[in-house]
Amino acid sequence: MKLLSVVVPCFNEQEVLTLFYNEICKEAARFTALAVDFEFIFVDDGSQDLTLQLAKDLRKSDSRVKYVSFSRNFGKEAAIFAGLEKSSGDYVVIMDADLQDPPSFLMEMYKAVAEEGYDSAATRRTTRDGEPVIRSFFARQYYRLIRVISKTEFVDGARDYRLMTRQMVDAILEMREYNRFTKGINEWVGFKTRWLKYENVQRAAGDTKWSFWGLFLYSLEGITAFSTVPLALSALFGTLLCLIAFFFICFIIVRTLLFGDPVGGWLSLAVIILFIGGLQLFCIGILGQYLAKTYLEAKRRPIYIVKTSESEEKNQRFKSEL
Ligand code: UDP
Ligand code: MG
Repeated sequence: MKLLSVVVPCFNEQEVLTLFYNEICKEAARFTALAVDFEFIFVDDGSQDLTLQLAKDLRKSDSRVKYVSFSRNFGKEAAIFAGLEKSSGDYVVIMDADLQDPPSFLMEMYKAVAEEGYDSAATRRTTRDGEPVIRSFFARQYYRLIRVISKTEFVDGARDYRLMTRQMVDAILEMREYNRFTKGINEWVGFKTRWLKYENVQRAAGDTKWSFWGLFLYSLEGITAFSTVPLALSALFGTLLCLIAFFFICFIIVRTLLFGDPVGGWLSLAVIILFIGGLQLFCIGILGQYLAKTYLEAKRRPIYIVKTSESEEKNQRFKSEL
């Protein structure tokens, strides 16, 4: 028997959790013929609603269900990491709770990994229907930019929906960085991936947990985590400006020698000072971004903090019975 772990990060997903569970169970039933067992790991990322209660209820009726609950909202990346750590399957798949990751793909993904020799099967959406137009536009430009400035291959529209071998999961768990950008980490560890394409599916119920601002900050994370080109770029800017300044110094010396030195041009001077000053602050800002990330990494804070999980509750029950 092989074991397939399904890791589900959940943040306020009371509307869809049971729906998701029913769908995934239907799919899991198709796997019995292949001698594949399932475990479902619900990671409650500090939800304020009934998500945890629902997971507990599912646990009561189905011993394949496991759950971890965080002490607060640590973000999807942390939830994925916790789920991977808790998983014990030969294969692990990460899925959103909102059914935007179609469970019907599982079979094909599993076969790609178990039979065709791939290390992982990942999905990407070819359309962004149902998403705000501005968000799609910025997302596309972002992927174009990050592909240029990073050596890691970023796939546009790549979802976190991915099935991996234990070997790849262990490689990902080795990366204990605090600032996690899963899309980059998945590519960085390497391994052979089969890509499956599909058209965007809308959320089954509830709302997206991402605001535009949240996505913006997350995208900066991707850049600072997987590229140092902005740092090099600021050095390049500096050099370029020095060269321009040097050219003008020569020009001014020659002009003064030929025509004297009438006072004038204070406005252009002010503009230049302002421009250079702005550029300097911009470059310090870039530097600051990297420094801040380094600072956070240097603190070695845990990636998440668990409040309860089904294994802890089991222990407590055991102790009270003793
Ligand atoms: N999620 C999470 N923690 C967060 C935000 C989201 O665990 O801080 C989970 C959420 O419950 C869902 C998945 O990540 O299962 C994807 O979130 P969402 O559907 O809101 O994102 P979108 O599909 O709009 O990109
Ligand atoms: Mg979603």
